[in-house]
Amino acid sequence: MRDVLLVRFGEVHLKGQNRPYFLRKLVSNVRRAVEDIGGHVWLADSRIYVSQAQDMAQCIERVCKVFGVHSVSPAVEMDKDYEAIAAQCVEMMRGKTGSFKVNARRSDKRFPMDSMVLQRELGGRILEAMPHLKVDVHKPDHVMSVEIRDFAYLYVDEVMGVGGMPMGTGGRAALLLSGGIDSPVAGWSIMKRGVQVQGIHFHSFPYTSERAKQKVLDLAAIMGEYAGNMLVHVVPFTEIQLAIHEKCPDELGTVLMRRYMMRIAQRLAQKNRCQALITGESIGQVASQTMEALVCTDQVVDMPVFRPLIGMDKLEIMDIARKIGTYETSIQPFEDCCTVFTPRHPCTKPKIEDLIQAEQALDSEALIQKAVEETQSVWVK
Ligand code: ATP
Ligand code: MG
Repeated sequence: MRDVLLVRFGEVHLKGQNRPYFLRKLVSNVRRAVEDIGGHVWLADSRIYVSQAQDMAQCIERVCKVFGVHSVSPAVEMDKDYEAIAAQCVEMMRGKTGSFKVNARRSDKRFPMDSMVLQRELGGRILEAMPHLKVDVHKPDHVMSVEIRDFAYLYVDEVMGVGGMPMGTGGRAALLLSGGIDSPVAGWSIMKRGVQVQGIHFHSFPYTSERAKQKVLDLAAIMGEYAGNMLVHVVPFTEIQLAIHEKCPDELGTVLMRRYMMRIAQRLAQKNRCQALITGESIGQVASQTMEALVCTDQVVDMPVFRPLIGMDKLEIMDIARKIGTYETSIQPFEDCCTVFTPRHPCTKPKIEDLIQAEQALDSEALIQKAVEETQSVWVK
């Protein structure tokens, strides 16, 4: 008899002919998540199992963060001996109150009792040992599950995983990652679909501090807990910001800055074989995110730009940030390059002609190339 973790996967089931490919990725991602704590991972009967982890609670936490995992159940694996199974069921229900049912499944048809008989008999044994419990087959407080496979698997609890698709099955994209609340959530949402996400951060030293950069790397590390790790490109942005500030109309400053960010991000994305950009924008949230401003921002790139938060309210975004663990880091009060140079009266309905006109004052290509060349890339974990 030993403790194992049963790992269920969701959507991977639907993938038809590609199913083995998705499953292989998922198994190797689960393995990577637990190997340093001794977790042994294998696939059998359309189910992933983890055993021998030094710390089961930590193992559960790690596995639940692997994209593609629907839920997990800490289980006891034991021989298919009815008496021993019955005793173990009683043990696992001990201390519980309220109602329960036994859910039995028998895939090994050689086992002498079918699932109906097992449910009835085991339910009886539990009631005998704990007469204060009630059976409720419709809305039980606890479900005692018993699966008869190569071994018997017994479990009561189910912990939900993050869901999504296995990391690495969805291509690669580059996230414009600021230190705010939104962009980590945006990146995480795309990561969840199995996309390898790299971060691109625009840093305006000395207007933004080393500590502000560190905050972004800390955010990437939290996101990296879901992905295994994360590559972040840090772009020196001061020169461009100063040039915009000095040479362009103040009210266009933010949108101009966003246009340069997008251009540089696209170059870096292409260099790193990413197929799309991701931003944390949501319509109307700030002046640079009106429909007009977004259209002007998009106009400078031909790569698709994914904006998973586009229709979400700030409160909804904050909820997700809390759930995934980035919120507390995001709200640390460090300046962002956007806040340092924010115009007093930003234009909310910029016109493309005006922006193009304003950009004439800058040596755009040289500025962009220099920023790309001086970009530093770091892996965070
Ligand atoms: P966030 O909470 O993600 O910072 P925000 O509400 O502050 O978003 P803006 O500052 O207008 O919004 O930025 C919009 C988007 O532009 C961000 O979600 C992010 O994708 C990108 N962005 C902004 N600043 C930076 C930066 N310094 N480096 C990289 N990307 C940035
Ligand atoms: Mg921001």
